[in-house]
Amino acid sequence: MMKQIKVFAGILVLLLLFAGFAKPAVYTETEFLMDTVVSVTAYGTHAKEAISAVFMRLRELDKKCNAHQKGSVIYAINTAPKNVPISVDEEMFDLIQQSLLFSNDAQGAFDITLFPVSTLWAFGTKEATVPQETAIVTALTTTGADKLMLDKENRTITKTNSGTQLDLGAAVKGYAAEEALKILKENGISHAYLDLGGNVAVMGGKPTRFLKRLLTGKKAEPFIIGLQMPDAPRGTVMETLSLYDGFIVTSGNYERYFEENGKRYHHILNPKTGYPVYNGLKSVTVVADNGLEADMLSTALFVLGEENMPLLANRCQGIYVIDDQMELTAVKPLITAEN
Ligand code: ADP
Ligand code: MG
Repeated sequence: MMKQIKVFAGILVLLLLFAGFAKPAVYTETEFLMDTVVSVTAYGTHAKEAISAVFMRLRELDKKCNAHQKGSVIYAINTAPKNVPISVDEEMFDLIQQSLLFSNDAQGAFDITLFPVSTLWAFGTKEATVPQETAIVTALTTTGADKLMLDKENRTITKTNSGTQLDLGAAVKGYAAEEALKILKENGISHAYLDLGGNVAVMGGKPTRFLKRLLTGKKAEPFIIGLQMPDAPRGTVMETLSLYDGFIVTSGNYERYFEENGKRYHHILNPKTGYPVYNGLKSVTVVADNGLEADMLSTALFVLGEENMPLLANRCQGIYVIDDQMELTAVKPLITAEN
């Protein structure tokens, strides 16, 4: 009898140990896309297939929206003459329209027509240098939402200046994150985490391990997202946020920049001046429930600076900034609802 109990207890302990450590099926894939490292993690038995479908879509989006790539829809717009309506598909029309509407709401702090200016700066290339002021002034004559006319009925975009060129770089990763979650869901995935170079998207929280689920009755716990310390090795975290569902996007001046005569020139530009924004901020992190909007918000809030953030704060669930003194401020603290 005693022996039987011992064997039984032994088996029970083993079972519990196994269950406690057993992880839910999880699969991750990483690829360089949209000029950044994209990694998608999905939980569930069909995660691998679902992630493959996501990457197919992301590659397609990248091809379509990449301003630098000949053959992209954006490239076609950028090389088109003025006053000629350019036909685009519904997705591109909506993307451009939403960007312009947002630009208006952000009082011009966000501007998808900055490509002629950012090309002069050439951030992220060996040619990166401070442009001639006259070149910036000239480029600025081609920028601004008023240089584009949208015809919804015929789904066309018309430039009113032949030099006008679009760059969806500050918005497309957020849109892509949103599309990725949609595809995962369509493929039966209900828990996922993805990161498109600073655009993080989470869905359904992280599945709890078997034993924990048994003990707490909780199917999922929030994903923990770290806020990167600027200029520190990647992964150095200043603060963590917990989130089950939503988009967390960071725009910062510490990844794409060059230095000249001791001054840092970074890739987030003030559309009014054509020069990098200097307002004491090193990074802005936004939490929102729409991917495209989250991405646009992070860039726009960086440009607006802490003082003017109230303009867009009601669209965010959370706003965190890190300033030049490495001080972190929760401009709008995120409240994580229990799932
Ligand atoms: P990242 O793409 O590095 O994550 P952002 O989302 O903030 O960062 O987008 C910055 C990119 O968007 C720049 O590299 C440039 O191509 C473009 N850009 C720069 N300034 C602006 C701006 N004020 N509004 C819209 N796009 C911008
Ligand atoms: Mg952005």
